[in-house]
Amino acid sequence: MKIYLERDGFEGYSTDMFHICKLFFEEVELIYEPSDDANLHMKITIRTDESARLAYGDIRLSSPAGGEVYTSRYEKKLGAREETYKRAIKRVIGFCMLHVLRDYTGLEQAWGTLTGVRPTKLMHNMMMKNSLEDCVQMLRDEYLVTEPKVQLLAGIAERQLKVIPDLFRLDREVSIYIGIPFCPTKCAYCTFPAYDIRGNNGSVEAFLEGLHDEIRITGQWLRETDLKITTIYWGGGTPTSITAEQMDALFVTMSETFPHWDEVRELTVEAGRPDTITEDKIEVMKKWNVDRISINPQSFTQATLDAIGRHHTVTETLDKFKLARQMGMNNINMDLIIGLPNEGMIELQKTLDQTEQLLPESLTVHTLSFKRASRMTKNKEDYEVAERDEIEEMIRTTAEWTEQQGYVPYYMYRQKNILGNQENVGYALEGYESLYNILMMEERQTIIGLGCGAVSKILFPKVEHEDGYEQRIERFPNPKEPALYNQAYKEYVVKKIKLLDEAYKEAALK
Ligand code: SF4
Repeated sequence: MKIYLERDGFEGYSTDMFHICKLFFEEVELIYEPSDDANLHMKITIRTDESARLAYGDIRLSSPAGGEVYTSRYEKKLGAREETYKRAIKRVIGFCMLHVLRDYTGLEQAWGTLTGVRPTKLMHNMMMKNSLEDCVQMLRDEYLVTEPKVQLLAGIAERQLKVIPDLFRLDREVSIYIGIPFCPTKCAYCTFPAYDIRGNNGSVEAFLEGLHDEIRITGQWLRETDLKITTIYWGGGTPTSITAEQMDALFVTMSETFPHWDEVRELTVEAGRPDTITEDKIEVMKKWNVDRISINPQSFTQATLDAIGRHHTVTETLDKFKLARQMGMNNINMDLIIGLPNEGMIELQKTLDQTEQLLPESLTVHTLSFKRASRMTKNKEDYEVAERDEIEEMIRTTAEWTEQQGYVPYYMYRQKNILGNQENVGYALEGYESLYNILMMEERQTIIGLGCGAVSKILFPKVEHEDGYEQRIERFPNPKEPALYNQAYKEYVVKKIKLLDEAYKEAALK
């Protein structure tokens, strides 16, 4: 689809406009000069009234070949500062475009104009200044979010505050993410740092040596700064790809160097791939009081697991789940993916029926996304996935099923290129919500990433102003590849500590 976009009274905003169009068309190209081969002509007029502090938008969508013309109009109060002023115009453009494209295509966008934002973070920010009812109304009227998603967001935001009543005060603590970049095999949809662990022990040892060192250096900084750790999360890769002894040694180093070790509120280990779980690794996790583990089936259809390269069996998932239960693991999460290749309602129902037999304490339900660097995306034509309507039905069915089983949604996030422009939702039985997932998604505290591919997110103090607040959030990724990590982690950790120092010195002065 080629759209000729004519801007009247404003410049820029090309990326925002592209993202709105992308919601409606699989392939879209925006051009800014008239062209004979354009399929649509969209004229957007923006006017501002500085004295009334308002922005007005008018839009007209037509096809050069003739036919119906679609129009929309919207006005929005301008903020006092440049950033909020721009944001208002962005909202006017988004609102008008969404309207005409919806009328033209007949496609409803469940998340309205919300692209590239964290919906629950937006909701919390709105709730700081408005009542829940007002926030809900704003989502409907200004962002055009559909009712089921409005209710989902409102429910999640309330739930998060119930689970972590001090959510907005946790910025004086940090959480730790440990990235172990190994897996037994690489799944087709994966873009995580996940390197084949087989026959690679030299590089595993070298990596772990660096990780121990990084933990010690960071632990020392945390002690000097006297910062408590709220949660620790081991991810990757699959952390349980390493041996029980290697896991135990990492716990020893953490417990010796991290301050207030006994006060860490939650410790999670992703035991994602069932084929990596053994009795001795569960024993190590029990010994170190790991609160929560993940055992991820993704699907209970063997042919699907084979097609996506997970190389473990359905039976193995069931056996390892039972083993973990027998050994006393009483907080198990399972990840499921909706829309895996060749899967429709029948396969989903099978997965839900099987999950019902196990009843893990929490479930993370992902909708498949075609991430740019994954093997699946590179060979997209080899993978047949369900149509948008079926994906929507699968999501609805899963949401109803979770409700029947007593699960409540407690965090969510959206990704680019997710099938049907849907979302990933974390569900939990009451009292089993993952604190780390909430803190990480809502960006309410600094997350320090250690190990391969671990991304630190460093929060600087908030700067309050009349239109709300602004906050610098510095993303700092560690190298993804083990070899590069081994070479460069020392340099990286110095830079990271410098950033942390800057953020926490600023905070101390506030
Ligand atoms: S188990 Fe997870 S991290 Fe490992 S390859 Fe598969 S999706 Fe990637």
